[in-house]
Amino acid sequence: MKKNQRKLLSLAVAMGLMLGSCSDDSIQIEETAVPLAVNATASIQTPTNGHFNLDFSSAVREFELDLNLSSAVEPSECEDTPFNEVADYYNNLLIDGFISAWDGNPDAISIILEDYFAINQIAAAYENKNTDYFGADGEYTNYVKQRTKSLEKFWDMSNSITVNGQHTATLEDLDFIRYVYENYSDAPAEEIDYILGIAETFNIGSDQIPENPFFASDGFATFDRTIVIGDGIITLLEDTGLDPKVVWSSILAHEWGHQIQFLNFENWEYPLPAFNNTPESTRMTELEADFITGYYLTHKRGATYNWKRVEDFLSAFFNIGDCGFENPGHHGTPAQRLAAAKAGYDLANGAQKKGKILSQEAVHLAFLAELNSITNTAAPRSVAR
Ligand SMILES: [Zn+2]
Repeated sequence: MKKNQRKLLSLAVAMGLMLGSCSDDSIQIEETAVPLAVNATASIQTPTNGHFNLDFSSAVREFELDLNLSSAVEPSECEDTPFNEVADYYNNLLIDGFISAWDGNPDAISIILEDYFAINQIAAAYENKNTDYFGADGEYTNYVKQRTKSLEKFWDMSNSITVNGQHTATLEDLDFIRYVYENYSDAPAEEIDYILGIAETFNIGSDQIPENPFFASDGFATFDRTIVIGDGIITLLEDTGLDPKVVWSSILAHEWGHQIQFLNFENWEYPLPAFNNTPESTRMTELEADFITGYYLTHKRGATYNWKRVEDFLSAFFNIGDCGFENPGHHGTPAQRLAAAKAGYDLANGAQKKGKILSQEAVHLAFLAELNSITNTAAPRSVAR
């Protein structure tokens, strides 16, 4: 039956995980038209809007889940990175898991494949639901706490930033799902009952819903001093062969870089206005976050990783977004991002500076001095893993 349905319904969910949409403008769950080809002859157009219109107006997001339910994904050079292979694997599991529990009701698409993502963002960013542990079973909680302490000390920012976990298990909680619909959507009570029925059906009927790591794959920083990192993005990167602790450290260090930018937003000058949602502005602030990341991760009083380790990780991390060059949230090409991190490493490990922790301001000025040479770095495909 499952295979049959798969044939009948050419449904492909392209999880275009992009390093994107990283700005101060509102980030909304995309409105996506979902044409589902049923047999060769009939087709239904299912407009799925989702039930939430989230305003992340004070957030910088790293991973934009771009759910494209339209048709088979065109093969492209973007798919040949280790990360994209892993992402495709979980993407297909999610599609299969959805279809295996699906009776064809189009409403289920917007609930399970759109709302669930929004609900877990709300859980992590606004409701502090299950945010106090890291890893599905808390296996990284101590590590993340230590790393947070290290970042606080390094950047002289004690107790100023909240780091929140995000987990697929949150979506097992139907009472919480109900609460979110009641408080964050306009859906009337009877519709919420109907939605909860669908949620329960999928939660019970599919081993991917909500267990699939995509449902907890957020990574973002908000202006109100919160960082959210989902288990799922760690899983995806870990499955490419990377050490999960390095993954946690690197993403944390990068998001911390954004918090440093937010903290200094009033005072720091840039060649372009910061956080104004143009590709150039986003690229500039992202490259600075990468520079800050490279500085902290390799600094003798920071994370003390050697450059090779950092380079391996960041190459994978930066390749997540290498399809998104035209996106207004474009974070920079992988080569530019790696060059930014390398410049941060060079700053940390230059003969004169070794062991001394520069001020946030001094690091910012050092970045600006390198910005032109970083953005002039060669084409993205020259970065090999
Ligand atoms: Zn960023």
